[in-house]
Amino acid sequence: EMLLEVENLHVEADGAKILKGLDLKIAPGELHVIMGPNGAGKSTLANALMSNPAYAITEGTVRFKGEDVTLWTPDTKAKAGMFLAFQYPEEISGVSVVQFLRQAISARKGIDVSALEVRFALMEWMDRLGMDPVFAERHLNAGFSGGEKKRNEILQMALLEPDLALLDETDSGLDIDALRTVADGVAEVRGERPEMGVLLITHYNRILSYLEPDFVHIAIGGKIVESGKADLALALERSGYEKWRTN
Ligand code: ADP
Ligand code: MG
Ligand code: MG
Repeated sequence: EMLLEVENLHVEADGAKILKGLDLKIAPGELHVIMGPNGAGKSTLANALMSNPAYAITEGTVRFKGEDVTLWTPDTKAKAGMFLAFQYPEEISGVSVVQFLRQAISARKGIDVSALEVRFALMEWMDRLGMDPVFAERHLNAGFSGGEKKRNEILQMALLEPDLALLDETDSGLDIDALRTVADGVAEVRGERPEMGVLLITHYNRILSYLEPDFVHIAIGGKIVESGKADLALALERSGYEKWRTN
C-alpha cells in the first residue's frame, strides 16, 4: 500500500493558480527528493499537503495510508503521522526547545507527555545526532542560526515518529553544517524507522552528496515534469532546468 498518493493536485493562493495537476506517489520507506527552480511551487506543495489554510486545494486528491485526507486539518494529519517541520512564528519566542517539543509530541500522541519523558527522549536523540545538550534549553527564535533551526526540525522529526516526513529546505543559504545536520538526521531517523517515508524538497542538489534518494522529481510550473533515480539530479547539475522549462 502507498504511504502518500497525490493525484492531479491543483492549488491556489491569493487567487493565483500555483499547482496545476501535480502527481506523486511515495511508498513506505522511500526517500523522495523534489527539486526545481524558485517559484516552481515546491513549498506550496508542502503547505497544501499539511493543509495550511492559505493554500486552497481546488482539484485533485491527497491520500495518506489509503485514506482521503485532502480536506483534513493540519492537526488531524499530524496525529495520523504526517509531519512538516513546523516553521515557528515569532510569537512563541520564550518557549524552550524542550517545551516546544513536549507540546508537539503531546499533540501527535493525543496524551499529555511528561516533561521528564520528553527530556529523556530528547537527550537520547541529541546524543545520537551529536548535538550539544545545552541546545534543549535554548529558546526558540533566540537568534537561531540556519543550522540551529535545522537541528530543531530534525529533533521534531525524530521525536514525533511520523510515518511521512516532509522537509522543505527553503533556506538557500544553508551552510555545509546545516546541510549535514539534515542529511545525517534523516539517515539516522530512517535507520530507526525504516518504514518512514521522506519527501525532501530542495532548491539545490548539494544535499544529494550526503543522502541517496530512491527517487528524484523535477517540479516546474506547478507540476512534476520528470521523475527518475538519483542520476537525474546529476543530469540536472550539468544541464540546468532549461530543457524542461521549454516544454
Ligand atoms: P518554490 O518553493 O518552488 O520556490 P513556492 O511554492 O514558494 O515555490 O511559490 C510558487 C509560486 O506561488 C510563486 O510565484 C509564489 O510567488 C506564489 N505563491 C506562493 N505562496 C503564495 C501565497 N501565499 N500567496 C500568493 N502567491 C503565493
Ligand atoms: Mg521559493
Ligand atoms: Mg520553496
